[in-house]
Amino acid sequence: MSERPTGDGTASVHAGRPAAEPYTPSLPGPVFVSHYHLPGEAAGPYTYGRDENPTWTHLEAAISQLEAPGADADTVVFASGMAAVSAVLLSQVRTGDTVVLPSDCYQATRSLRQRLDSWGVDVRLAPTAGDQQLDVLDGARLLWIESPSNPELDVCDIRRLAAAAHERGVLVAVDNTLATPLGQRPLELGADFSLASGTKALTGHGDLLLGYVTVTDPALAAAVRLWRKTVGAIPGPMEAWLAHRSLATLHLRVDRQAANAVALADALRGRPEVTGLRHPGLPDDPAHRIAAGQMRRFGSVVSFVLPGREHAERFLAALRLTTEATSFGSVLSTAERRGRWGGDAVPDGFIRFSVGVEDAEDIVTDVLQALDAAR
Ligand code: PLP
Repeated sequence: MSERPTGDGTASVHAGRPAAEPYTPSLPGPVFVSHYHLPGEAAGPYTYGRDENPTWTHLEAAISQLEAPGADADTVVFASGMAAVSAVLLSQVRTGDTVVLPSDCYQATRSLRQRLDSWGVDVRLAPTAGDQQLDVLDGARLLWIESPSNPELDVCDIRRLAAAAHERGVLVAVDNTLATPLGQRPLELGADFSLASGTKALTGHGDLLLGYVTVTDPALAAAVRLWRKTVGAIPGPMEAWLAHRSLATLHLRVDRQAANAVALADALRGRPEVTGLRHPGLPDDPAHRIAAGQMRRFGSVVSFVLPGREHAERFLAALRLTTEATSFGSVLSTAERRGRWGGDAVPDGFIRFSVGVEDAEDIVTDVLQALDAAR
């Protein structure tokens, strides 16, 4: 059972750390191991390095405490967000099943459709906004939600969709990457699986890849754990330890990013060349009402559209503080023209801007000078 520390700052700092013992570190260092001394019966807790690692155990306890405080949750960490996404989708679905995916979710998640098709799984796609996935739920085995969605930042009512899914015997998985557990707790909103890329804001320094799945049902936990063991999509102990160390500042980073995101969005409002400005924390954003009912912080991503591809490229090239990079949630501000990858239904001038923890004034000054230069 994970305890409920008093506030998000306390929870972030203390999550998953073992009880204080004299002369031991507060967070034990990474355990580099492939095999453990294992005399006699092959019983755990630690048998072989692909199955268990004490560094994962601490990190898994930490994420459980953040995703589901006070609940008896179990977390399984993975080598990347996509390893976690695949573990849930591919461990749960069999030939003849139906899966409902968002038509606007992260494109690599959607690309799993090819694999599912080849296994004889029926994949239905519907947009996140307006809870449109509700219309295609009947007879499904699994509903996949990504809210807010990447990159268009649409939001659906997770409580409503989860209740409707459960009435129909459909499992519900929520990709919580953009929100982080301090922004949203999908299991409390009714999901069966909360999973995420820890590569983004959860760890926030742009220096590692990680994924995780958190569940409360022991049978689902066992299935996901078995998937990790058989596929071998395990994080290295160094990455797991770095991730855990990064959690101590999660509340500081996400609070600062949320405030910076609103400051940037406010500055962009006054610019005639900017259209389609989106951030779920903006009171007039189409997603705000539902987001405010289920999110506690609104994430680091702001998206907007410039008048075309060349205009967007001039803008990105003129940025001095913000660097052009994919991914989001880092302490460093980054931005990209999302259309350069293909695969998302966004205009050529669509910018996904990930606000870092620099000073808001500096981020805004940089963006405004780059907009001037790009005109
Ligand atoms: N889920 C979402 C919403 C993402 O944005 C990403 C990556 O951008 C992933 C999953 C995959 O994460 P990773 O890059 O850690 O594999």
